[in-house]
Amino acid sequence: MTILHATPRLSFDVYEHRLIGENVKFTASPNTSGAFQTGAPDTIVIHFTAGSSLDSSVNVLTNAESGVSAHFALGRNGDIVQMLPTNKIGWHAGKSHYKGRSGLNRYSIGIELDNAGQLKPRGDGTYESWFGNVYRESEVIAAQHPNQSVLGYWHKYTDIQIASTISLCKVLCEHYPISVVVGHDEIAPSRKVDPGPAFPMHQIREQVLLEISEDETHTESNGVHTGSLQREAHDAVPRHIASPVNRVANVSANALNVRKGPNVSFPLIENGLHKGEVLKVLEKQGEWAKVSFTKVGWVNTRYINEITEKSPFKT
Ligand SMILES: [Zn+2]
Repeated sequence: MTILHATPRLSFDVYEHRLIGENVKFTASPNTSGAFQTGAPDTIVIHFTAGSSLDSSVNVLTNAESGVSAHFALGRNGDIVQMLPTNKIGWHAGKSHYKGRSGLNRYSIGIELDNAGQLKPRGDGTYESWFGNVYRESEVIAAQHPNQSVLGYWHKYTDIQIASTISLCKVLCEHYPISVVVGHDEIAPSRKVDPGPAFPMHQIREQVLLEISEDETHTESNGVHTGSLQREAHDAVPRHIASPVNRVANVSANALNVRKGPNVSFPLIENGLHKGEVLKVLEKQGEWAKVSFTKVGWVNTRYINEITEKSPFKT
């Protein structure tokens, strides 16, 4: 994932709940339940469109008959279409549940990425989408989705799409108290597989949350405090992302504590990660590991089992 280290800083801003920037347009969707309540949105939900183009997906998401919408759709060339102002509730999450809350539409901004989704191998080295487009092997990754029992084939996202997603998430974090970035497949695991294993969710979380905290150090020196608990947590942790460990682990304890730093004197930022939950291991210090899930924090390695990640088309 070296591309993420070279992420261009696309400059976006949000004004009156509208995204401002190059290659951004607004096409209104009627599909909203009205304004968010105070404190929301605090979550970003990432999706793939499983569609054939940005235009076709925007047509669906802005059609009153469809009953679906999202705040943003991102094209494969990095173009962004906003369809709802970011103070309005969209219809992208459906029946969903996450960390004790259900109906995530009420709390979240929905971002749809133009991507064909899960593909079928045709047996000749090419892959086919549900709508009949054919993709070369170079456009596909093979990976087992955590919600599925067998290896699957997934349409890759483009580098510019990922870079735009990161920039968009960052600007949203500057304007709203976002503390969670999550996939649709994590809030509706029995129904959904998007954005799927081709989407670098852990890296996005690390980049968005860590870099926001760096920006904030800046902001705080100017006397303005916009921090959420999540961002404060990062400020207490030394940031060494130059040599990521890049391993995955399962929680082996029944309820695992996550702390701001690598020993028990640091305050908790999460108590009770569930057994079996998958974590990305970012860094280790002694018997402590810095991990990413929907947040970033430290856990005692006695309570996690490390597992080896599969690499696409190899081993
Ligand atoms: Zn979705």
